[in-house]
Parts: sequence; C-alpha cells; structure tokens
Amino acid sequence: MFEYETTIGLEVHMQINTKSKIFCDCSTQFGSEPNSNTCVICTSQPGAIPILNKKAVEAVIKTGLALGFTINKRCAFARKQYFYPDVPKNYQITQFEPSLCSKGKLSIMIDGKEKIVNITRIHLEEDAGKLVHEIGSRKLDYSLLDLNRAGVGLMELVTEPELSSPREALEFLNELKNIVEYLGTSECSMEEGKMRCDVNVSIRPAGQEKLGTRVEIKNMNSMSGVRDAISYEVERQKEVLDSGGKLIQETRLWEAEEKITKSMRSKEGVLDYRYFPEPDLVPFDLSDSFVENLRKQLTELPRAKKTRFIKDYGLSEYDADYLTSVRMTADYYEDALNASKDKNLAGKLLANWISTELSAKLHASKICIAESPVSSKNLSKLVSLILDGTISGKIAKTIFEEMYEKSTDPEIIVKEKGLTQISGELAIIKMCEEAIIESPKAVAEFKAGKERAVGAIVGLIMKKSKGQANPQLVNKILLEKLKI
Ligand code: ADP
Ligand code: MG
Ligand code: ZN
Repeated sequence: MFEYETTIGLEVHMQINTKSKIFCDCSTQFGSEPNSNTCVICTSQPGAIPILNKKAVEAVIKTGLALGFTINKRCAFARKQYFYPDVPKNYQITQFEPSLCSKGKLSIMIDGKEKIVNITRIHLEEDAGKLVHEIGSRKLDYSLLDLNRAGVGLMELVTEPELSSPREALEFLNELKNIVEYLGTSECSMEEGKMRCDVNVSIRPAGQEKLGTRVEIKNMNSMSGVRDAISYEVERQKEVLDSGGKLIQETRLWEAEEKITKSMRSKEGVLDYRYFPEPDLVPFDLSDSFVENLRKQLTELPRAKKTRFIKDYGLSEYDADYLTSVRMTADYYEDALNASKDKNLAGKLLANWISTELSAKLHASKICIAESPVSSKNLSKLVSLILDGTISGKIAKTIFEEMYEKSTDPEIIVKEKGLTQISGELAIIKMCEEAIIESPKAVAEFKAGKERAVGAIVGLIMKKSKGQANPQLVNKILLEKLKI
C-alpha cells in the first residue's frame, strides 16, 4: 500500500447581495411564495432581453479587489449550453473568457502557520431555479419548479488545486465567508443556499508530481458536509488504487444521510457546453475610475481589524478573534468603545463583557448582536459605572440582567434602586469593625497565619451590604485592621 497526498480545489458559488436579480428587476428575497419573484426575463420567455444589474458587477469587483485579484476591464458574457430542467431557456448566461477577476489569493492559518491559496478566477453568472421534490416531509413522485432563484446574481470563485486536507478546505471557506460578509457582497448563508460549493478531490502517491484524477462533488451546502465528503472520498479513492483499480474523472453527489458519495455522471469536456458570446449583452469596457472608486469603498478586512484591535486596545488574541469574526460584533464593540469616557481603560473590560455575558445571552435568545436589547451605548455606560467605582462588578451583573430584559439605561437602574457602590472610607471602616467582631473564628485563623481566612470576613461584609461595598476598599481596610 502507498502513502498518498490529497489535493483539493474548490468552486464556490456565492449569491450576490443585491435587491434585484442580475438581468431583470425581480426581487431576490429569500423565502418568498414560489414563483412570485419572476418575470418574462427570469422565466426565460423567448425574445425577452436581459439587462445587466450594475450593482452585481460592482459586488464582484469589490470582492476581487479585496482578494488581490487583477480586474479585467472587459466585461463580456457567454451562453453555456446545457439541458437545465431548472433554467427553461437551456443555457446559462455566464462569463467564459475573460472572467471579471483573475489571479487572486487568500491567506489561511493552519496551526499558527500561514498558507497562501491561489485563486484562479471569479466570474459573474446567473443562478438557476430550483426543483422541488418534496413538500414538508412528503416526498413527491413528480417535481415542482420554483423560479424565484432563477436569475439571482452569482459570483463563482475557482481555486487552484492547492488545498491538501479537509481542514484546509474548511479554513479556506470560513476565511472567505468572513471576508465576503465583511464586504457585504454576499450574505454567504449556507443554510439559505447563498453559499454553495463544488469540491474537487484527488489523491496521488506521495512525492509524485503529476496530480491524480479528480472527482468533483457537486453542490455542497454545509461545512460539515464538505469535511465529511472529502474524508469519505479520499478513503474511497485509496481503496480503489490500493486494490489495483483506476479512478475515472467523474461528478459525484454527496448523500448526506448515508454519508457517502455516489456517481452521478462521468465528466463531459468543456467543449460540450458550446460556449458562445451572449448576443443580447454587448461586451463593454469598465473605466479605470469605476474600478478605483470601488477600491476606495473597501472596508478594513477581518485579519487587519484583529491585528489593530490587539495593538490599539490591548486585547488578547482570543478576544480580538471573537470580536472580529463577525463584522456586526466588531462594529458593536467599536461603537461602545467610542461612547465610553476612558477608552484606554474600557477596551479590555468591554471586550470581556461582549464575549462572555452578552454573547451568552444572545446565544440563548438566538438573536444576533445587531438585535441586542442592550445597546452598545448602554453597555458602554455600564462599563464606565464599573470603572469609576460607582458599582461593583457583581452588582453590574445584576443590572445587566435587567438591561437585557427591558433595554434599560444602567444609570437609571442604579439611581432608582440605589445600587451605588459604597466607597466612603468611614462607612467601610465601620463595616469592617462590625464584621471582625462577628467573625471570631476567622479572625483567630487569620492571626494563626491562615491568610485565606480573610475571605470569609469579606464575604460577610459583601453580604450585609448587599454587594454594594467597594470590594477593593474592603480588602484594604480589613487587612489593615487585622494586622494591628
Ligand atoms: P470544471 O468546470 O470542469 O469543474 P473548473 O476549471 O471550473 O472546471 O474547476 C476545476 C476545479 O478543479 C478547480 O477548483 C481546480 O483547482 C480543481 N482541480 C483541477 N485538477 C484537480 C486535481 N487533479 N485534483 C483536485 N482538484 C483539481
Ligand atoms: Mg466544476
Ligand atoms: Zn425577473
């Protein structure tokens, strides 16, 4: 038996985030009544003329610029001929040569080491409709056709065969999703089919230069599916080769329930599609200023943001990672920070509240941070109240509960409930003296050298003051008193 190396190349389809479809003004709204977002163009009526959506072109170029692509100024479309049950005109309008973007790259991190993955191209095309084979859980013995998705703009991104494990493939997809969500050019939700990918897998004996015969697994729509399908396919291919068999270039389907791939068809050559220039869409040239304007609109990408958060706000790797993995979270954090009185002090504490307390609540109520009942401004106020000593961290947690329940301003809660922290020295001295008298056992232990016994006395004071005594001050004064 040989040792094998795995090679993976991905073809990723992302629905472009525009209000209307790519060649007509029908809505792209997901989940509408079947066939309600349709017109003569996207239902392929003979003679209907497509009109290109400028925003779709912009989205592809923005994505390309963010990934270091060369932008081809010539924008041209071609017909890809095929029998498509879900595209009545039986051809797809796509780009052949040139594609809008060529030669880009994406950096992924594997075990702390950077790997650059080259991306061959990104091109623009239209999505197909959807065949429906079941209603609810009822399997039909016929198929229904929903054309709402037909004509939604798609960008297809094709990588070089440079990924070498399921982990690298997932890392690539995650990083890509992250960046594209940041750019806002696609929503990338795999659950809604807005991001799907074809996975090409081959193996070759270790050390052999020539790549093995590839198998293409079509239309994967979940990360775990991608991972499992690659693992399955690698094992299957090894078995074929080890038993003296030969692999054929073919398209296979992933059967999610059985967790196996099944042969769908052997691969037809590129020529079979009979690409030819789309006669209804005249090729045109993009101006330099059109592209440069889009370059100026590029926002900071997740990796750069993370580095900046660590450097500027003194965050840990973990917190910076958490805050920048979704753009809305990063925006929430920076909004809160900008609203706070002392940015230098608030940075870490705010990060902490967002990644623990707030994230747990949001998770439990299954909502995203943009819908948080605690606004960034109110969280910032809460953190300021802790930092200036008005409330203790413990009281803050109680206040936070109410803020989350009722979206209340923490300053109002503190005032109404009289929750202000007791930081007056005289008051605290009195509390300490009382507690010492009431805790003879703990005092004796402390005097006998058991420093930790002080905790019991602090606990008593916090309990009697309903958590309002300033814990730092209590500690300090108590120790002074005990050491006399
Ligand atoms: P097609 O439309 O025929 O699938 P594409 O050029 O669109 O062709 O995509 C080919 C994909 O297959 C690319 O992602 C490429 O990296 C990948 N690929 C090519 N050769 C191999 C191979 N030997 N093993 C794994 N992946 C491969
Ligand atoms: Mg393909
Ligand atoms: Zn339409």
